[in-house]
Amino acid sequence: MNTNFAPPPPFSPRRACWRNSSRGLDFAKAGRHLLRHDPQVLVIGEIPDEETANIAVRAALTGHLVISTLYAGSGAGVWERLLVMCPDHHAAASAVALILNQRLIRRVCAACAGAGCETCLHTGYHGRVPVVEWFRVDDATRAVLRTQGATAIRPGG
Ligand SMILES: [Zn+2]
Repeated sequence: MNTNFAPPPPFSPRRACWRNSSRGLDFAKAGRHLLRHDPQVLVIGEIPDEETANIAVRAALTGHLVISTLYAGSGAGVWERLLVMCPDHHAAASAVALILNQRLIRRVCAACAGAGCETCLHTGYHGRVPVVEWFRVDDATRAVLRTQGATAIRPGG
């Protein structure tokens, strides 16, 4: 009976890599580095360029849950930016499951109903409220993509 066994490798459920542009570590290089660890979930702080977008799409298409931000003014803007950065629109549409667009709006001060008081520093506003728009890319959306092209898909439209 062979009783030799290797101890299990140290398990670290989370690995992180921070962008450091001064050392040449950008989002794309960090993404490639993290994918070598074959994570189940890949969180990319921002998709700023085509290279990072294509890494994120490729990771999503190979079974990784990719969560990221992409700066745009609306949910439709996120979709449009992604299509600009990913020439393979079918891959992009297959990779995206959900787009959330969040805007924070000022909350009218409950203490003075917007008239201005000490609580709101006489601005009439106190705190913020998120307004969220979401767009789910489902099979019906992908069918539109196949028949009419990516530009026919208009989140929120
Ligand atoms: Zn007030």
